[in-house]
Amino acid sequence: MKKRKFPLYLKIFAGMIAGITAGMIAVNTGGEWFVKNWVAPWGEVFIKLLGLIAVPLVFISLIKGILELKDISKFSTLGGKTAGIYLMTTVFAVVIGLTVGLTVKSGSMVDKSSISNVRENYHEFIESKKAEAALSNDKGPLAFLTEIVPNNITNAMSNNSKMLQIIFFAIFFSVAALAVAPEKIKPVLTFFESLNEILLRMVDYIISFAPVGVMALMANMVVDFKGDAGLFVSLSVYALTVILSMLFIIFVLYPLIVRIFTKIKAKDFIKTMYPVQLFAFTTSSSAATLPVNMKIVKNELKVSEETASFVLPAGVTVNMDGTSCYQAIAVVFIAQILGIELEWHQILVILGMTILSSIGTPGIPGGSYVVLAMVMTSTGIPVEGLAIILGIDRPLDMLRTAVNVTGDAMVACLVDPKKQKKKTAEPNMQEK
Ligand code: ASP
Repeated sequence: MKKRKFPLYLKIFAGMIAGITAGMIAVNTGGEWFVKNWVAPWGEVFIKLLGLIAVPLVFISLIKGILELKDISKFSTLGGKTAGIYLMTTVFAVVIGLTVGLTVKSGSMVDKSSISNVRENYHEFIESKKAEAALSNDKGPLAFLTEIVPNNITNAMSNNSKMLQIIFFAIFFSVAALAVAPEKIKPVLTFFESLNEILLRMVDYIISFAPVGVMALMANMVVDFKGDAGLFVSLSVYALTVILSMLFIIFVLYPLIVRIFTKIKAKDFIKTMYPVQLFAFTTSSSAATLPVNMKIVKNELKVSEETASFVLPAGVTVNMDGTSCYQAIAVVFIAQILGIELEWHQILVILGMTILSSIGTPGIPGGSYVVLAMVMTSTGIPVEGLAIILGIDRPLDMLRTAVNVTGDAMVACLVDPKKQKKKTAEPNMQEK
């Protein structure tokens, strides 16, 4: 394989700087028309490509992920426990994200006049979403049930905002498939596995277009914000809140859980996980980190082969605490920056959607962009707002991937009978 001269994240960063510079020059020289006519469309194409891949990606990677849980029948206790803890830690992570986002309010640090300028651009979109929200408010408390269940799968697939219906169908389909004899669903599993490979390659291509897309989106954004410096201050505060939340999860939350529920010392867990985190940090991909994670969890943390080979691969797609925490912060930040007051029902949608959708996020660099776009659409926040955060996203992606893989390893320790505190196991385990 040929080595890339510049890593993608550097190219994206360069794209961001180029976009900001181009935008500033345009604002100061009256060249806004040029940015609008010749630069902005590339950003739109990038956003459209992300939207294009969203439905097939979530649908296929979710089905593949659940079908791979086939061991649930064999290890039903392990499967149930794993799923339960995965879900619980995800809920925790999203609640942390929402709390931080709603408390710090980094998105509200932008000048109100530039917000109204951006809002004007999204006016129609916002109004139509408000109307939709008002409509569903009138429908009664169980309206969400009727909205989640589709009566026609092709209709659901034709609309990115109907992602919950697609998720419903994918789960329903996979659960039914798991109830059928394994040899009978083998061709389906193989089919979805190869479809997934192709889609991941498509995502790869789209992501490699990111530097251009980000440049165009940034230039357009600076023009929209009329070069407001407050935007950059608030971006830095946003990045800082994401970083601090990630560090909190890795260095406080996980070690605490490990200490309370396993025989492993919190300090040992942090030290042992360091190479895995570093690998995740540099690759930005939980999937690429899986072999390293398996090795360390089995050899160093001494989790049994059976547990590690079931929990870790499932975790790559199903469990993403870093990603879900980040998504909550990002959605809240974008809403604030666009001047959208989030109401309670929208916050609940963010909570539900980020938890559900983190299950379908592929463990690849930038795997969550598509899902983030989907959460935003469902919450009524213009997807174009993504432009604001994409430029500085790579370092945050590196960090959240490190959290994602640490979370998988932590759950492996938690569910492994040999590592649990209360169970009697070999006396010489780990604590040294
Ligand atoms: N890069 C992350 C991972 O592989 C996914 C994401 O948050 O974009 O875990």
